[in-house]
Amino acid sequence: MKQQAKRILSVLLALVLVLCCTAVAFAQAPEEKTPIVLIPGFGQSETKVYDGEEYLGMINAFELPGLSVENILKAVLAPGVASILTRSDANLSKAVKGFMDELFKAFKTNPDGTPVYTKVVTPYDAAYSFLPPEKQQEVQHHIAIHGLDDYNDVRYFYSYDSFGSIKQVAAGLHRYIEDVVLAQTGAEQVILVPVSQGGTVLTEYLADFPGDAKYIKKIISVIPAFDGAQILGDVMTDNVTIYDVNYDHETVLPALLPGDLGYQVSLALRVALPARVIEKVLREALEEVRQLLVVNSSMMWALCPAADYAAVKDKYLSGAEHAAVRAECDAYDAARKALPATLNRLKDSGVNVHIVSCYGVGNIMPVLFGSGNINSDELLTPASSGLGATFANIGETLGDGYTAKGTVCSDPSHNHLSPDGMIDASTCALPENTWFFSNIGHTYVNTREDIKDFAAKLILQDVADIYSLPGYTQFNDPYERAAKSYETDNGVYYYDENNHYLFTDLKPQTQEASPFWKGLAGVVNRLYRMLETVQTKLHLDKLRPFA
Ligand SMILES: [Zn+2]
Repeated sequence: MKQQAKRILSVLLALVLVLCCTAVAFAQAPEEKTPIVLIPGFGQSETKVYDGEEYLGMINAFELPGLSVENILKAVLAPGVASILTRSDANLSKAVKGFMDELFKAFKTNPDGTPVYTKVVTPYDAAYSFLPPEKQQEVQHHIAIHGLDDYNDVRYFYSYDSFGSIKQVAAGLHRYIEDVVLAQTGAEQVILVPVSQGGTVLTEYLADFPGDAKYIKKIISVIPAFDGAQILGDVMTDNVTIYDVNYDHETVLPALLPGDLGYQVSLALRVALPARVIEKVLREALEEVRQLLVVNSSMMWALCPAADYAAVKDKYLSGAEHAAVRAECDAYDAARKALPATLNRLKDSGVNVHIVSCYGVGNIMPVLFGSGNINSDELLTPASSGLGATFANIGETLGDGYTAKGTVCSDPSHNHLSPDGMIDASTCALPENTWFFSNIGHTYVNTREDIKDFAAKLILQDVADIYSLPGYTQFNDPYERAAKSYETDNGVYYYDENNHYLFTDLKPQTQEASPFWKGLAGVVNRLYRMLETVQTKLHLDKLRPFA
């Protein structure tokens, strides 16, 4: 009996020993790290432009060396004075266009899509850990996902020209993955993380390089611009109220210029020029923006939603000189329409595909852009970043009796309706893999640790679908997720239950205007509105001194 007990004990001991050793062996085995390739958003890749030796500016940051009060005055003073005296457009709009043409010189692209000057996109041709400090800072400045810090030795940043050719940018990504990422790491697969405009790059890349599917382990798209940005659609289709006297003078100008200056400029403009002249100048300036920044660039066209592209492509891209850009844009349009099928095919072949969409903020400057109170993250609708979500506009819901459309997921046991009644995710291309966060602005995502922590989880963990990540559901409200908040002079800081920082609602840091200038600008604006009404009533059509 004793002998048997001893034998059993020694067998047990041996077993424990073996188990311990195996555990140690597992723990010490080199961790397999799949390289992560961030495809950043609009303007996040340093792009310097040169005319021979002369430096023309950094277009990604809209660094415009020609922008100075002196240059503006030089360009518009004479026609400005003439316009004020004649109460008409005495070459003022022409002067403004000429000034813009010079100011945005670095952005200039030929009608065939080739850049007029030499563009140099700063390459990040090593993993983060091996980049020089200034390049590391640049990457962190744009996309600092702290949850990936342990992966800095395999974390890559693909830089590209936001105003260039989408075909070339996609081809650049293909080369970057093969020649840099896979070559340096010896890995066979990568995790692609397209952010915002990076979503358009991914779309073209998947269409142009179907053979690269073998390189892709995961695609985690964060607020991707899969169907562009609605405000660019508004700009291109001229669905814009370029000059709303009340909104521009009482909201836009004071928001753009600090302190009293906004009201002073508003006042001066209101007295100096009739509204119709200001509107004409702004309208022509807007057309100049379209021509200089968008028309010759397939990267920019890719940010124009499909419906808006269809409406204006013939207007802007039917000439023979635009044939090359048109061909790229049409090919991109086909690629984005095929994207739901493309991603589903990848998913079915075992690639982990997830999409993170934000919503519930509304458009930037809702009065000026025709899409007004469309539901968005400031820029992208849930249909764009959520790849096909159905949504209600800001301040509305889909309705009390609304039932899910179920065009993609019709499983009766699934609930793809957001608790706030704004989103129906059953129409998303990937209804089981698309996550939503409410009340988050597009341009704030880079400062949001909660969203970036979440993205890191999707990147690093094996998350099958929206049902398999503890603590998260398809729809997430950041304010409900926050356990604690502290109010300070700067704003309200939010933390989770472990005191882990999540995000801040910063108070607007506007310089308060003095009541005098604010009041005077308001009174004069109202007076002019009255005079405009009188002018219309008295049929002073020829004279039109006020509007
Ligand atoms: Zn479902």
